Amino acid sequence: MEENVLEIKKLCKDYGKSHILKNVDLSVPKGSIFGLVGRNGAGKTTLMRILTGLSEATSGTYSIAGIESSDRKILSVRRRMGSTIESPAIFRNLSAYDNVKLQYINLGMTSYDSIPALLELVDLQNTGKKKAGKFSLGMRQRLGIAVALCGNPDILILDEPINGLDPQGIIQMREILLRINSERHTTIMISSHILEELSKLATHYAFLEKGEILQTLSSEELLNKVRKASRLRVSSTEQLCPVFDRNEIEYKVGDQETIDIFTEVTASKLVAFANEAGVEVITITENNESLESYFMNLVAKKDGIL
Ligand code: ATP
Repeated sequence: MEENVLEIKKLCKDYGKSHILKNVDLSVPKGSIFGLVGRNGAGKTTLMRILTGLSEATSGTYSIAGIESSDRKILSVRRRMGSTIESPAIFRNLSAYDNVKLQYINLGMTSYDSIPALLELVDLQNTGKKKAGKFSLGMRQRLGIAVALCGNPDILILDEPINGLDPQGIIQMREILLRINSERHTTIMISSHILEELSKLATHYAFLEKGEILQTLSSEELLNKVRKASRLRVSSTEQLCPVFDRNEIEYKVGDQETIDIFTEVTASKLVAFANEAGVEVITITENNESLESYFMNLVAKKDGIL
């Protein structure tokens, strides 16, 4: 059976009369890269703050590596957890090396031999005496991860580490996180408001909206759920729709010339429908629903829009 390093049960957080987290249930498998996806204000940071001990839940429980949140041992288990919540704890007037060294000292570590390898892991090995205040956003994010990795934690909690990075920085961050996960077997919980960005590394997902978990699923399950579509470019979509309606074909019109078909039918069948409608088929291509639109559909269903 899959072992879970984090088990969250009926977790609630209220700020005054606002219910920020509502009965959150989550299981994070050991060794996974767990993507917590939610729009701004969904409650991602609030949940991560509770797990890392920065804030207390109003009700509900959670366990880390089998130790319940009510158990005093939770404090020592938390030492096996690294995190970057909101802005990473970085001293702007110190170099990358000295920032990491300071964290080693904080953790009571007396040997600094592993610092160069850690800086190499986050691609900051060549920054020398340069102060963190002069780093780019991507460099600072990576330094935050190096600091969180001091003491080689079993679980890493990363709050929107990709936020604000340019495409190159996103790729670099993704590769570093994949390396940490595969080489150190670190379980990583990572939040983002953009599912597409997480999709290239996450093994599991939870979708959070207005403090509620809408769905949890593995990356394979997500890929299976994303609707497969054939995109047709035709001379006129208008004439084609009645034929599709008669044949109970599920479709979505893009513009006058493009139409996406969600029902599984062969290309020759599609051409036959087009012939019946007196419409010319220009191209048929595969065009799967985007992950982002899958997520937005879930949110819309919750809001009763769909
Ligand atoms: P973002 O990406 O915008 O940070 P998020 O999903 O991380 O989004 P949270 O920061 O967890 O969301 O905030 C969830 C809600 O809780 C927001 O409506 C926020 O205003 C509210 N909130 C967070 N902290 C507090 C607090 N200390 N007091 C009152 N309300 C708070």
